[in-house]
This record gives sequence, structure tokens and C-alpha cells, in this order.
Amino acid sequence: MRDTSDQQFLADFEAMSARGATAGGGVERQAASHGDRKARAWLTGVLEEMGAEVYFDEIGNQFGLFTFVEGAPYCAVGSHLDSQPLGGRFDGAYGVLAGAHAAARVKRAVEEGSVVPKRNLIVVNWFNEEGSRFEPSMMGSAVYVGKLTLAEAMGATDVAGTSVASAITAANWQPVVALPPIAAYAEIHVEQGKLLEKAGNTIGLVTATWGARKFEVTVRGEQGHTGSTMMADRKDALFGASLIVTGVRFLADEFPEGHLQSSVSKMLIEPNSPVTIAREVSFNIDLRSPDSAVLDAAHRKLEALLADAAKTSDTSVDLHLTHSWELNPYPSPGVELARTVVEALGYPYQEILTVAGHDSTNLKDEVPTVMLFIPSVDGISHNEAEYTNAQDCVAGVHVLAKVAEKMVEGGI
Ligand SMILES: [Zn+2]
Repeated sequence: MRDTSDQQFLADFEAMSARGATAGGGVERQAASHGDRKARAWLTGVLEEMGAEVYFDEIGNQFGLFTFVEGAPYCAVGSHLDSQPLGGRFDGAYGVLAGAHAAARVKRAVEEGSVVPKRNLIVVNWFNEEGSRFEPSMMGSAVYVGKLTLAEAMGATDVAGTSVASAITAANWQPVVALPPIAAYAEIHVEQGKLLEKAGNTIGLVTATWGARKFEVTVRGEQGHTGSTMMADRKDALFGASLIVTGVRFLADEFPEGHLQSSVSKMLIEPNSPVTIAREVSFNIDLRSPDSAVLDAAHRKLEALLADAAKTSDTSVDLHLTHSWELNPYPSPGVELARTVVEALGYPYQEILTVAGHDSTNLKDEVPTVMLFIPSVDGISHNEAEYTNAQDCVAGVHVLAKVAEKMVEGGI
């Protein structure tokens, strides 16, 4: 039987982090990229050594089945191996590997007779959680729960025009079968914030997600010579966009501290030439708050800001809401199950909200779900310097393994 010790977990974490590693100590594993494919091939090997059967579904979710009771329902643990460009080693990948080791520990407990299983267990690596190469984010889990159709997801393209369908075909992940229905789900993730670290707690029990409003904006102006077009005659789309980007940043300051996060993080400029005034600029706006009233107020202020920017720059501006969700609780059975486990193991913990979306955000709307956090040093995330110490990583595996054990016993 494969080693299920804490030392083996840490050794596996190092081996996993070498797949798609960057010179700066992070990883480059955007969905279906070379790095993502290497990490997935490595995970297949580990799961098979642990005794799982490894498959992929049509949208590229990778999963290992640990079948204890033929014909019984499955519960699942998992997260995502894909990363942002120049991303950190822990975001998502920690949760997938913690899930694999938790499953191996449950398997051992079943074989030793200390756990009597009523359900089987799946370790799942959701496809394209990050949404950096292909939008939207949390794609694999969204297709699984039916929030996004397979056809919509397959048609999404990256900046080079490659579709999800062709990227998955090129990756040739085999064999392809449907992911079985999941009766309960658990995910562990690094916090990506500083609350656990500040409080000196090891585990966060996630009770709700912040609300969000995500927009696409297009500013349309008129292409012209940067030298010879008189200032008064310009319809400069990049000038208009700049007014909006700045305004979005200041929008957060119009609310009490910690109530609104506002960002623009991606931009396309046409024709993006040094001697030509931009004719069209498109970018995203991302607003997050635990308070729907704040999001609604920010949305109204945003509309006024866009109208002002259009007038000042003599351009036209389109605002399109692409995704939105409200403060959304995790159902209490999962939170309470996790609380029982953490208290029994004796780790210091607290309840916590997640600002970021996770695959569990999709799963929790369908099935009882547990979402756990471990600390992030300095809250650094989506950055090569992302770090969580080994002690906290190991504690998280202990908690997740116990949660998985309870799920297999039919606890939620
Ligand atoms: Zn993540």
C-alpha cells in the first residue's frame, strides 16, 4: 500500500509543484496548458498508486474513484490543479493533493476495519477553475452542476482563438466517462487572505461566499494618428477606459473599509499601436462585497461613472453584466460536520467568509458541502510568492481525511 504519512504528503507536494514550475518559485499551469497537462499526468500516477481508477469527463474534470461498496453512492473531495499565469503552488493544487491523501487514508481505515463505508469516494481535479485562459472561471464544476452547458464551455476561446474543445482534444485525456452523481462534497483551500494568520488559527470553516458583480466593458472611439489628430478632435478609447479604471479603484473608497473590493485586471486595446489612437478598448470590472446593498449601490455609481467617462472622452461605453451572485451561505450540515471534526482533532479554528469563488461554491448549491481554509502567509495569492507552512498543510490533510471519513460513513 502507498505511504499515507504526513512526510509522504509533503514529498508529493514538492513533486507536484515541480510540474509547470516557474523560475520565481510558482507554477504556470493555465487550463490545458503544457504545465497543467504535466501536473494531471503526475496526479493520475499518484491516484493509481493509491488504488483509484482514474477517468476524465467531457469537460476535462479528472477524477479518481475509490470504490468500497459496489453500487453505493459517491461523495467527493477535491479542488483544482490549474493556476493563474505565474501563479502560486498552493492555490487549488494543495486541495487536490490533500483530497488524494485524505482518500488514501480513508481507504486504509476501511481496509483496517475502523471505518465501515456506506458510500464510495471520488478525488476530483476540476477543469479550469481559474478562468484565466478560458472564461468563465470554475468551468468544470459549473458544467458538472448544470450552471453552464457543455456546449457553452466547449466554445469558450483563449486570446489565441483556441477553443476549450480543441484544447481538450489536444490534451487527449483518456478514458472519458461521466463523473458519477456526487452525494456530498468537501474542499480545502488556502485562505488567500490574512484572517486566519492574524487570529492565530489553523482552520477556517467557511460559512458563506461574498457576493460579486462581474462586468465586461467596451469603450468605442475612433482610430487616428497620435501626432496629427488635434486633441479636440480625438475620440480616444484608451483615455475613456483610463478614466473608468481609475474611477473603479476610487469606487471602493466611497464605502466603509472592507465593504467593497473593486478591480479592473484585464484589458484588450485595438489596434494597440504606438502611433495610433485606440479605437476600441475592452476590459473587465470585478466588484465584490458581503452586502448586496453595497453591490447594488456600487453598480449604480458605476453606471454614472461610465456616462461621465464617455462624455469626457467623446466615446461610447457599453457595460455588460456577465456574472453576479449574492452573499451565499454554505448549508449548515457541512459546516457543523466540519466543526465536529476540527473540535475533536483540537485545532484552533474560526468561522470565515470566502471572498474568492471556489468549485465548492458551485457544488454547495446542489449537495451538502464542507469548505475549509488553512492560512496563507501574508495573504499572498495569485502570485509566485504564495506560501503556507508545512505544519498548516499537514493539519489540513488531517481534518479533510476525517471529514471524508464521516462523508463515507454517511455523516452528511
Ligand atoms: Zn483556487
